[in-house]
Amino acid sequence: MKTIIEPFRIKVVEPIKLTTRAQREELLRQVAFNLFAIRAEDVLIDLLTDSGTGAMSSQQWAGMMRGDESYAGAISFYRFYDSVHHLTGFTHILPTHQGRASERILFSVVGGPGKVIPNNNHFDTTRANIEHSGAEAVDLVIEEGYQIRSNHPFKGNMDPAKLQALIERVGVERIPLCMITVTNNSGGGQPVSLQNIREIRNICHQHKIPFFLDACRFAENAFFIKKREPGMQDRTVASIVRDMFDLADGATISAKKDGLVNIGGVLLLRDEQLVRDARNNLILTEGFPTYGGLAGRDLEALAQGFQEVVDEGYLTYRIRSTEYLGEKLLAAGISIIEPPGGHAIYIDAKSFCDHLPAEQFPGQALSVGLYRHAGIRSVEIGSVMFGQNGKSAPMELVRLAIPRRVYTQSHIDYVVEAILELHQHRHELRGLRIIEEPPQLRHFTVKFEEL
Ligand SMILES: *Cc1c(COP(=O)(O)O)cnc(C)c1O
Repeated sequence: MKTIIEPFRIKVVEPIKLTTRAQREELLRQVAFNLFAIRAEDVLIDLLTDSGTGAMSSQQWAGMMRGDESYAGAISFYRFYDSVHHLTGFTHILPTHQGRASERILFSVVGGPGKVIPNNNHFDTTRANIEHSGAEAVDLVIEEGYQIRSNHPFKGNMDPAKLQALIERVGVERIPLCMITVTNNSGGGQPVSLQNIREIRNICHQHKIPFFLDACRFAENAFFIKKREPGMQDRTVASIVRDMFDLADGATISAKKDGLVNIGGVLLLRDEQLVRDARNNLILTEGFPTYGGLAGRDLEALAQGFQEVVDEGYLTYRIRSTEYLGEKLLAAGISIIEPPGGHAIYIDAKSFCDHLPAEQFPGQALSVGLYRHAGIRSVEIGSVMFGQNGKSAPMELVRLAIPRRVYTQSHIDYVVEAILELHQHRHELRGLRIIEEPPQLRHFTVKFEEL
């Protein structure tokens, strides 16, 4: 059979409701065209993020009931530990409340003024935590990673020559570790090949630089390796995941992605001194090392989620449903970042709204248009998010992030239809002007008026 179906049936339903166009018009005015300020109940299909928005399985919910809420040494911690150890091979496993807490602990130990941390592309919270410590965050993704239409199978790869050049320029002493983000979220959810992970790790080890993964989407990345990397087709995703982690000296993970939970994170380490420092910081800021800012029931959900996510039936459906949305848009002549990434589709708003200059925020205009037309929430990743002081961003994108196991094919067909209709009337989309903005991270609270 050719059809790939959702590999689950539905046990609990959560109603969603379509508002009228007049209501959405009024809501948009009330929030000054900032979709972060819309109440979720006024959104029909919410593609704002795939982080913490997934649906848990019946086994995860069952685990929640047996959560052991003991302060120290809870049985739920040991189930969590065994699950993560089984998946990654690591023996030093610290739970945290989410990915950025793992990052904060790591960089408060190894960061600091004068230090430089390379990555393919740093995710915003990773960059912010590095910069907060006083260190510098450097992006070294291959050039194809910046080309919307390049069909390179591993656009998330780090450029080994760029890494060598950085090491020569700043010196080994200033690089406490090198990271690779899998999949490369800031670069369009694009995967990194196992060969690239190995090559970068070898360069790091030649210079005695620890090699870390930002492993939020480790399973989606491993599935792309299985599908696209020569010689990998007959391997299990779990064994590829294990290879990825075996190559790393540590990892930060937001379990809100491939942990298939609504809250949680992990910090994995090998170096004994680093473990001691990180554990002390964890106790000071997150909690005792057998719960790390989470409830026992959260650890149970995580233990189960990390097993379910490497199921190949799940991953086939997951990656195919994102690709399906991308293919439909491409077939209608809509420009997106190609090839479709693992967790999201990024529409090229510069081309969609070719009548709007960057100063009128084409991405925001498209995102507002999609909500007004069909009640769908997306997020602008362009000059609203990254442009400031009158400068515009290199790309004007609108991200449609797909929550895990939440929407069905007919929901996605509805999204496709809405975008296609909007595309036919795209020259009616109106530009925006900022009327009020905060000094930092302005996209969360900025206010606009329509031109
Ligand atoms: C989500 C994410 C983080 C941060 O995790 P939170 O759980 O949101 O704190 C870090 N890196 C990447 C690549 C992410 O996608």
